[in-house]
Amino acid sequence: MSEAIKKKPELGSIKVDPSGTVQKMEGVNYTIYSPRVNDLGNLYFVEVDSNVCEGCGECETHCPTGAIQETEDGTRSIVDPAACMNCGQCLTHCPYGAVTERVSYVSEIFEKLKDPDTVVVTMTAPAVRYALGECFGTPVGTYTGGKMQAALRRLGFDYIWDNEWTADVTIMEEGTELLERVKHGGKGDKPLPQFTSCCPGWIKFCESFYPDLIPHLSTCKSPVGMLGPLAKTYGAEQTGVDPKKIYTVSIMPCIAKKYEGLRPEMHASGQRDIDATINTRELAYMIKKAGINYMALPDEEPDPVLGMATGAATIFGTSGGVMEAALRLAYEVISGKTLADPSIIAVRTANGINKVDVDVPGFGPVRIAVVSGLDNAAKVCEEVRAGTSNLHFIEVMTCPGGCVNGGGQPVDPSIMEASVFKKMVAKVNKRFNMRKIA
Ligand code: SF4
Ligand code: SF4
Repeated sequence: MSEAIKKKPELGSIKVDPSGTVQKMEGVNYTIYSPRVNDLGNLYFVEVDSNVCEGCGECETHCPTGAIQETEDGTRSIVDPAACMNCGQCLTHCPYGAVTERVSYVSEIFEKLKDPDTVVVTMTAPAVRYALGECFGTPVGTYTGGKMQAALRRLGFDYIWDNEWTADVTIMEEGTELLERVKHGGKGDKPLPQFTSCCPGWIKFCESFYPDLIPHLSTCKSPVGMLGPLAKTYGAEQTGVDPKKIYTVSIMPCIAKKYEGLRPEMHASGQRDIDATINTRELAYMIKKAGINYMALPDEEPDPVLGMATGAATIFGTSGGVMEAALRLAYEVISGKTLADPSIIAVRTANGINKVDVDVPGFGPVRIAVVSGLDNAAKVCEEVRAGTSNLHFIEVMTCPGGCVNGGGQPVDPSIMEASVFKKMVAKVNKRFNMRKIA
């Protein structure tokens, strides 16, 4: 246990909301609710509040699957949890704040932090540290990673472990798997192209709409899918903590990661690998609720064993980052040479589909694509399904621009402020919808 946190801070005075309470966190309404794996089938992670919805349809425009649809009274509703990829794009684009989150482990986490017999560990994604500062007044995109680690420590987390560590593991595993598939010429059970597998919205999309392409998915778990079991096995062993006492908290820029944390197969450690998942907005709420002056905190480092990382891991948070990091490895293994410029900027993209050939000495061109948004993923999947794709490696990120723009990040206040025209149109539409001729 790190020196700085041998004692739990005084969290006793914090009043914890009971299950079922609706709590606003950074402008978004959350229902306090800690589901378990058996709840997964019928669980809505986001839902429209019909009392707030003005029927503008903006959410529908941004929904990649058509899961959100118009109802009789002109408001919108998510038709079926199976159709929803839990990406939260409807939530971040609703100008009225009508889309709410239905799962929040915040109260349970506070209870665990107060409990002296529970060892609570963090598993924080790279993109969180690029957005958390916004909740405390920094300009958009400001990196506050050191303050974030300090705040987690002051909240009473026992070990500050970090997904940048397992992002590095993912790079090694995914890059090695790509090499294997290339070596086998994409034959048998190692087909090409290989798709990345760290984005849970994309994985659900592939499983739901392109199940025949599952063999193309990298067999690697996501970074947090690896860190959960490592925390309860290797981490427990290294720190001498009984794994049954460890409570792992996944802290993500995402809503779909709450779904991933509940997947039945996430029990490689012999128990639940991921006990709770929250996003950036919820972490900001917890820091404020505990009365921590975030901007006054010093920069601190994560804890050893499962906290250290290289620079390659950080770029996981941006579209093209996973590809770039894995390609660096593949380049060096295939060619035996070190990349003169390790930054393969050409593969980064903020929107759409970016196809690039990277010339690897000793192999030839490695053909890659970086895909942002599930509508674009569908186009690429159609090509792979039709057998017309000549690509080797495809990265897919559900959210436009990658995890930095995830559905769990702070909501852009200008979405609400800049939508005066949309609000006017919505009101007119609502009136039309109310006037129905039988
Ligand atoms: S107000 Fe508009 S964007 Fe928000 S949920 Fe209703 S229809 Fe969708
Ligand atoms: S979370 Fe994503 S998939 Fe689900 S309704 Fe909203 S936009 Fe559509």
